[in-house]
Amino acid sequence: MNTLQMRDFSNEQVLPAQPPVAMTPIAVAYGDGIGPEIMDAVLRVLDAANAPLRYDVVEMGEKLYRQGYKSGITPEAWTTIRRNQILLKAPITTPQGGGYKSLNVTLRKVLNLYANVRPAKSYAPFVASRHPKMNLVIVRENEEDLYAGIEHQQTPEVVQVLKLVTRPGCERIVRYAFEYARAYGRRKVTAMTKDNIMKLTDGLFHQVFNEVATEYPDLQADHQIIDIGAARLADTPENFDVIVTLNLYGDIISDIAAQIAGSIGLAGSANIGANAAMFEAVHGSAPDIAGRGIANPSGLLVAATQLLVHVGAASTAELIKNAWLRTLEDGIHTADFYNSNNSRVRANTKEFTDAVIARLGEEPCQLLPVRYRAGGVHVNPSQVARGEKQLVGVDVFVDWEGAERTPNHLGQLLEAAAPSPWLLKMITNRGVKVYPDGMPETFCTDHWRCRFVPVEETGVTFDQVLALLHALHNAHVAVIKTEHLYTFDGRCGYSLGQGE
Ligand code: NAD
Repeated sequence: MNTLQMRDFSNEQVLPAQPPVAMTPIAVAYGDGIGPEIMDAVLRVLDAANAPLRYDVVEMGEKLYRQGYKSGITPEAWTTIRRNQILLKAPITTPQGGGYKSLNVTLRKVLNLYANVRPAKSYAPFVASRHPKMNLVIVRENEEDLYAGIEHQQTPEVVQVLKLVTRPGCERIVRYAFEYARAYGRRKVTAMTKDNIMKLTDGLFHQVFNEVATEYPDLQADHQIIDIGAARLADTPENFDVIVTLNLYGDIISDIAAQIAGSIGLAGSANIGANAAMFEAVHGSAPDIAGRGIANPSGLLVAATQLLVHVGAASTAELIKNAWLRTLEDGIHTADFYNSNNSRVRANTKEFTDAVIARLGEEPCQLLPVRYRAGGVHVNPSQVARGEKQLVGVDVFVDWEGAERTPNHLGQLLEAAAPSPWLLKMITNRGVKVYPDGMPETFCTDHWRCRFVPVEETGVTFDQVLALLHALHNAHVAVIKTEHLYTFDGRCGYSLGQGE
């Protein structure tokens, strides 16, 4: 007889009646594809555990996109989410093309959900994993970096995206990672950046990490370059504890981590903001299995336990998570992670949910039971002191093409056109110095960065920049954009050209 047959699932109210507690109103979005099936399952578990939550259902997703809401959400849903500040969201199908915006990105930005927290843990031997000791959390910056979505085509050959990294943004996410580590009894925080190449943007993140780390002497802190860090993560994830990183790197490595932990279907994710928070499964809406009643509700259930901790219902979160761990231990597995070596029952969504509910009040025997501290982690943004900022030059970006497209020709034209006090210091193409003294092998596109500084090493005025641009325009130079060169308290606020 298997475990499923031994238990009675008809009675979902397995817990004794609890004294009344304050109910937290949360917004609930049923989502698309398997969303409604797994949300039903999760709400059944929450109800059976007497979770102190009240649900306000909000409309968002594919149906709304099709009705013409470009962001996939109604104004009424926004009102409810803003009022409740907590959203439990099943996955949404994003229609391809048609100018539809990703609802997730919109929710993160509008609600200022700056931290994406994704635990990735192995449940071996009950869920097959090549990394049985893996137990890490990725704290991903959620709003900045390349996801600001500021892109331009500047010449027929060249497009660009702006990578924005701010000191308050870095401070908040790094501090969140350290506070999280403390709150959840973790020992080490690892930053991952590419600051050997992006010395200002990723360099700022690393620098802030070093500064904030000094405030947490009880925690180990280290830094790894993202490429080797990601390789080590995939190879020996058991060596990592909390990882904090920028938006794009975090997006990539959190999927790697969820995958190698055993199953992406088991992973939950929290998006934490100053006021609001959103909780969801890591996986998508799985349209290929929608409506068949076989989806694994675990990712959304784990996210719901993160939500409970966040709203202060830590004991309910423990109750549910431990029952879920016990279900995994008992070998009751949905098809997506069923494995003949580790599983005993191939459960559908309802059977799996029933099994979790039947185990409320039980704890795992071999896996470590969870213990949570209520209240989650909250970090306020810090103020940055403004020092002395001085304009010391300008990079003029130029669209220059045709038969005479040589760095020397452009250099001579710019030198002849530039009025006093300007000196053409260098021209780069795709970041490589090509004038003066460039290498003939360098491949050049139609996009040139021309650095002007004053002849004397002094500051310059905005009027002098405008006079330079006028002169270049009159000399038929196609200026496409400028970047001012500043020093901050005497420190250089711009990168040097390769070979400069
Ligand atoms: P997916 O995660 O939906 O599916 C990938 C594979 O995993 C499929 O074979 C699916 O059947 C399986 N799977 C996923 N979750 C499962 C579960 N809980 N139980 C059992 N099997 C599961 O990824 P996809 O196919 O790339 O995306 C489908 C849609 O979901 C797309 O429209 C995408 O934009 C959207 N999506 C939404 C979110 C979100 O709302 N947070 C996240 C990712 C993808």
